[in-house]
Amino acid sequence: MLIFRDWAKAKFVEKTQKLSDGVARVEISSVATLVKALRLERTRCCLCETENAAPVGVGEDFEYRTSDDTFLAMQCRSCSLIYLNPRPAPEEFQTIYPANYHAFEFSPDQFGFVYRVRRRLEARRLLNWCRDLPENARILDVGCGDGFHLGVLKEFGNQSWQLEGIDADERAARAGEQKGLKIHCGILETEDLPANAYDLVLLIQTVEHVADPPQLLKQIHRVLKPGGKLVIITDNTDSPDFRIFKSRYWGGYHFPRHWNLFNRATMRKLAEKCEFEPEKIITVVSPVNWTYSIRNLLDDAGAPRFVVDFFSLKSTIALGAFTVFDITLQFLGKGALLNAHLRKPL
Ligand SMILES: [Zn+2]
Repeated sequence: MLIFRDWAKAKFVEKTQKLSDGVARVEISSVATLVKALRLERTRCCLCETENAAPVGVGEDFEYRTSDDTFLAMQCRSCSLIYLNPRPAPEEFQTIYPANYHAFEFSPDQFGFVYRVRRRLEARRLLNWCRDLPENARILDVGCGDGFHLGVLKEFGNQSWQLEGIDADERAARAGEQKGLKIHCGILETEDLPANAYDLVLLIQTVEHVADPPQLLKQIHRVLKPGGKLVIITDNTDSPDFRIFKSRYWGGYHFPRHWNLFNRATMRKLAEKCEFEPEKIITVVSPVNWTYSIRNLLDDAGAPRFVVDFFSLKSTIALGAFTVFDITLQFLGKGALLNAHLRKPL
């Protein structure tokens, strides 16, 4: 692990120097503009609403190679939120989420055994969150992708529950509808969903993709019933995988698709900013960021393809091994993912 960390650090220094030495030491954003294929925009910390941050990671789109750009992960000096700055402009959405993006097709054909195991595990986890829901409860999955979690609830959950999803991507929404699910195609900010209507809102690996998480949580607050619950799953930046790989290869950066990355403290700050009561913020097990961090490193180091491909979402050995490893870390409160349960006050 130390070797990985040193390698990543050396690359971080090299890449950040390249960025800042670039053309006559102009601003990092201007350098990015000269070498990029994507149009990028500057942003600031969505929690503090200031731009007082230091670079913590630098990398490319290792997974999909949708552009040649180099991206910077910045850490807010005041609250420790990590955010991509500059980040792709809204019109680049179709480019950075290509047709083979995994959230659009997590199917049994594509992922076989991994699909079946994940479905079982997700069913247990989701039903646990739904334990105190009444009959006819309304559940909304925000950023539902192709409806994977709704499909699990439909199969294993209480048949009286009313399930709905919302996703901005038309391809994902259509895939969900083909499974017989009710999917709104759009974003919560503009979609006219009823106020005080839902018992439970799910935000599963979505908040990190969003430009303005406080704005999104305020909208969720509006549609939840008083006393309703919001459950969030997102990458955890207070984890050993982040610490080891943060300078370049950390899977949770998912360059350039993860725009805001949280730890317990910033998640709490987000909740309070949006008038939620944090019930609990814990960590949960995931092998994905470990697998992708090592995959990114090997890919960047020019390792043979079959070695790189050993670390993928289709590799049962890698996923199994990192799951066991992350279970140990989760017992220490350092699992790879954050899980927040936030309540809209009565
Ligand atoms: Zn901040």
